[in-house]
Amino acid sequence: MSNGECNDIIEWFDAVAEQAGAVQTETLRRILVLNFGVEYLKKWLGDVNVHEMEACALESLYTSLVPIVSHADMEPYIRRIVDGEQEPIITQEPITTLSLSSLKSFPQIQIRPSKRNLILSSPIPFKLINVSHPNRVYPTKEGGRILEFIYSSKRFKTKGGITVGTATTHVYASEEFKIKQQETKTFTCSPHQVISSGDYKQSTYCHLLLGIHFSEQVEFITSTFAYSIVQAFRSFEEIWKDICNDIREGGLSPKITIPDVRKSVLDIVRRPNPCLASRIEAKCEELEGVDWAGLIPKLWPNAKYVYSIMTGSMGPYLSKLWHYAGDLPLVSADYGSTESWIGVNVDPCLAPDKVTFAVVPTFTYFEFIPLHRQESGTDDFVEDEPVPLSKVKIGQEYEIVLTTFTGLYRYRLGDVVEVAGFHKNTPKLNFICRRKLILTVNIDKNTEKDLQSVVERGSQILRNTKKAELVDFTSHANVAKQPGHYIIYWEIKGEVEERVLGKCCNEMDASFVDHGYVVSRKSNSIGPLELCIVEKGTFKKIMENFIANGAALSQFKTPRCTSNPVLLRILNLCTVKKFYSTAYGS
Ligand code: AMP
Repeated sequence: MSNGECNDIIEWFDAVAEQAGAVQTETLRRILVLNFGVEYLKKWLGDVNVHEMEACALESLYTSLVPIVSHADMEPYIRRIVDGEQEPIITQEPITTLSLSSLKSFPQIQIRPSKRNLILSSPIPFKLINVSHPNRVYPTKEGGRILEFIYSSKRFKTKGGITVGTATTHVYASEEFKIKQQETKTFTCSPHQVISSGDYKQSTYCHLLLGIHFSEQVEFITSTFAYSIVQAFRSFEEIWKDICNDIREGGLSPKITIPDVRKSVLDIVRRPNPCLASRIEAKCEELEGVDWAGLIPKLWPNAKYVYSIMTGSMGPYLSKLWHYAGDLPLVSADYGSTESWIGVNVDPCLAPDKVTFAVVPTFTYFEFIPLHRQESGTDDFVEDEPVPLSKVKIGQEYEIVLTTFTGLYRYRLGDVVEVAGFHKNTPKLNFICRRKLILTVNIDKNTEKDLQSVVERGSQILRNTKKAELVDFTSHANVAKQPGHYIIYWEIKGEVEERVLGKCCNEMDASFVDHGYVVSRKSNSIGPLELCIVEKGTFKKIMENFIANGAALSQFKTPRCTSNPVLLRILNLCTVKKFYSTAYGS
């Protein structure tokens, strides 16, 4: 994309950000006009003629009459749409596509914008907004390649004839995805057959092979969530010799069995390239000696940055990503969800742990429920009355509520954000965590973010040994036996003495700062923290279990806490060592 085009898009964004409050009021009016008369709105707004009302009055009326809802409240409506009911239930325009979210209790269904709705919500395709900011700072060459670790899942049709798949799957199959490549004149290394093979191992192999094939042209490396990049390079450490053989011979490993994937990849790599193979082999041998530190710049010498979602539940993969990226900048990608895109990272130079997201006020009508943490009681937060975007305050935490072009009205997204500042007049959000408490036995309250900080402290001890690292983790609040206690499952790479793991376990137990937990541990109404070490490959099995149930690798997030019997069975069967904390006495 040329600098001029980037600047035009950034100028457009800055103009709507400047007028964010008024743009939001107008966005709500447009949503209500578009969906005027649908069953859901009639139920709450009655016969109010939205066409004739002034936008500000409509905003007050809407927020006073329509209730705030959760996914469960919308489910009966969505179920009817899935079953093929033709009446305008939540949108005037017939819904032809539904998306599966990775977060809501799987496999519930979320609505995704149809193409028309996407156009209505913003005159500029979102993908162009989000490439403009990184592109301005790290301009890419036209005709260059992108090494993209992206994966579609299967799409299916409901009995009502609606196509269902993950949001990313719809995107990769969409015109928008093609437009992005044409407009930016940079093309993904892998053909569509590889992205949509349905077998993540075969896709990963081909993404890597084609990435090496185009290694001199690759301008940047990307995935939706950072997890996919880390898992791809972890595999590369094991399969690089096969990849070099394929490059040398112009062939393709027999492990790739899907006929149209084989054909599409062989069409690209058919010419033997022994020079490139020897060059890559020599680099890999060197990299093996330094535990693959700086793998990305070494193998992709012209790559300018790594771009992916690195915030929130991706935080634990950052250190590995840094390790692979060496001195290459890590650019944290934007903030969005299946229900709506939310904000853009307008400061691509910021380190991923400092990044904030400027809300795009044309996408959706946003409201913010102020949240106040509380020490006692069973609720996580005390809520105040929701406020519009123009009334948020710096330093305050909020839960986001969405009213979308696609038929969600005052819908709780379930994400907790903090307002870190403003870009023009639109808030810049810090993603804090999912709202749901994940670890709680009685009066204790811990969110995903709390668990992440605790695990970060424990795994620091592991890293200090320079002999082992944490690959992935999850947890479970075990209340089957009295007193209940937390279990943290760790998969580690490398060898480390039991003494060290015992220390990690104590450190984690002592690092939960939640008052309820500390008090309960002191009185032994919560038992000692249990650290279970699981065998190599356990978290891969968990990911495969999700994929087998229809999730897509592109949107996969390791659940940081689970009570799912299937996952617990995998974790418990794979546990090879257990430690109990003595942090509060034995
Ligand atoms: P999904 O429903 O599978 O589309 O996942 C969307 C969810 O992923 C959001 O509601 C957030 O919880 C999380 N998410 C998306 N983008 C980011 C981001 N940039 N930083 C942190 N979490 C994110």
